[in-house]
Amino acid sequence: MPVSDRYAVIGNPIAHSKSPDIHAQFARQTRQDITYQRLLAPLDGFEAVVKQFIAEGGKGMNVTVPFKLDAFAMATALTPRARAAGAVNTLKFENGEILGDNTDGKGLMMDIIRNAGYAVAGARVLLLGAGGAARGVILPLLEERPARLVIANRSLDKARELADFFSTAGRISVSAFSELDEAFDIVINATSAGLSDDMPPIPARVFKKGGLALDMVYGNELTPFLRFAAEQGANVRDGFGMLVEQAAESFYVWRGVQPDTRPVFSVLRPPSS
Ligand code: NDP
Repeated sequence: MPVSDRYAVIGNPIAHSKSPDIHAQFARQTRQDITYQRLLAPLDGFEAVVKQFIAEGGKGMNVTVPFKLDAFAMATALTPRARAAGAVNTLKFENGEILGDNTDGKGLMMDIIRNAGYAVAGARVLLLGAGGAARGVILPLLEERPARLVIANRSLDKARELADFFSTAGRISVSAFSELDEAFDIVINATSAGLSDDMPPIPARVFKKGGLALDMVYGNELTPFLRFAAEQGANVRDGFGMLVEQAAESFYVWRGVQPDTRPVFSVLRPPSS
């Protein structure tokens, strides 16, 4: 009997991950014969778990917190977008090679432009945070040619490093949270503050009525950042759409088939929820 191709999401913790549900939906919809499981790796045991999965015939993995840098280091080949992101969220195992890719930036762009209906081209964009998630979305943002891109971060040095690193791709300004003194069409929170029910100390003036505020963190409740943005009249969106869209891009990398994400939204997050 033919055996289904195996995929997994690896992280620590991992029990909360919605990726298996998303990929199961994609597989049903596109009639791809795959299985997709959660894999918990010990904090010092990422590589061993990946090797074991490959030895068992695994075809690919999504990689989440805290292993995106380990995956980058373990890859034997990298896509240009993974190299730019400095992190890997998608691994593909083929012909003895470990291909590292990064679909987070594409996922965010699809969610902002197609799902939320906001143009990044010509927009004034504020990116909060300078960690791995922020770095991963800078190149895709610049490729859309925004009118302005500002990065603000608690540790200003890290924001400056990112602006320098991407300086050949486009102009990036850097600011401390408290010194932000203009309004933006799109404000993206790529800090992890929402995970601890906190938010970066940004002034209300960064938001525009009818502008977009997107928090990469997702959950059942609005994060403090999104609550604050809504109070200023911005349209708010959490990171669930980005998660679904990065998953769709990973699915495409593995299977060569583009799933339709819309039915996944209506099943996993019905409009009333
Ligand atoms: P990192 O640990 O690499 O970076 C964390 C960032 O958050 C840093 O810029 C840090 O600032 C900042 N930060 C943390 N706490 C606070 C706080 N209380 N106030 C202000 N700034 C703070 O994490 P990642 O970049 O990998 O991930 C960031 C978030 O994005 C995570 O919550 C992750 O779950 C989410 N994410 C969501 C995805 C999706 O598909 N929806 C995909 C990828 C990530 P400093 O540099 O000063 O320490």
